[in-house]
Amino acid sequence: MIFLKTEEETALLREANQLVGRTLAEVAKLIKPGVTTAYLSQVAEEFIRDNGATPTFKGFPNQDGSPFPAALCTSVNDMVIHGIPNDEPLKDGDIVSVDCGTYLNGYCGDSAYTFCVGEVAPDVRQLLKVTKEALYKGIGNAVAGRRLGDIGSAVQSHCEGYGYGVVREFVGHGIGREMHEDPAVPNYGRRGTGTLLKKGMCIAIEPMITMGKRNIAMKEDGWGIVTVDHKPAAHFEHTVAVLAGKAEILSSFDYIDEVLGKREF
Ligand code: MG
Ligand code: MG
Repeated sequence: MIFLKTEEETALLREANQLVGRTLAEVAKLIKPGVTTAYLSQVAEEFIRDNGATPTFKGFPNQDGSPFPAALCTSVNDMVIHGIPNDEPLKDGDIVSVDCGTYLNGYCGDSAYTFCVGEVAPDVRQLLKVTKEALYKGIGNAVAGRRLGDIGSAVQSHCEGYGYGVVREFVGHGIGREMHEDPAVPNYGRRGTGTLLKKGMCIAIEPMITMGKRNIAMKEDGWGIVTVDHKPAAHFEHTVAVLAGKAEILSSFDYIDEVLGKREF
């Protein structure tokens, strides 16, 4: 069942999601060669708790019911999503996708950004740029009266136009009191098909895009999702409210932009 949100509920979702944006910016300040993802997650968790929220991901169960152990998902290079933070230092030329969730005043925030670590190869930087562009093309279709397939089609056509792979097995989602609500929001699809978008729907749009083939596999830890060909993958995510005419982006990369400035990719 899809829950349509009132303006009051949307305001609460905005608060939770703005906190995610500020948390990702705290992480952005620290990303450089030598830093561990475990440290990034620790800093993020402290920041989230200092702001009166809890990290939604920590303790979130996977299919077997085992809890995710950290506040952030940190997915390096060929890892697409759901990386468990660890003590391995980031290296010059890596990319790291950081996904963050908050729970604040009964509502969830969810947003992700893929960062460069030091000097990253131009073809990998292009993957990040195109994936981020695809996210905004998807958001451009998150408008009342359009359909879910319009979002997926916009993301898919942009990325496949560059020869990239679009992950099928994991998708965006409705969001509200629960982190994952209906509907599923695929990053692929056909225009004019799928669920009709209505004012008040709040959804997380999150392209997961691979530089090579789109095939993925799960790591032995039961969480990390990697590309089978071990080529890099990017992940950008915003939580948005569907409105008439134009979506409102409830999360924000503005805080990240303030930290990264011109160094974006
Ligand atoms: Mg997320
Ligand atoms: Mg999400």
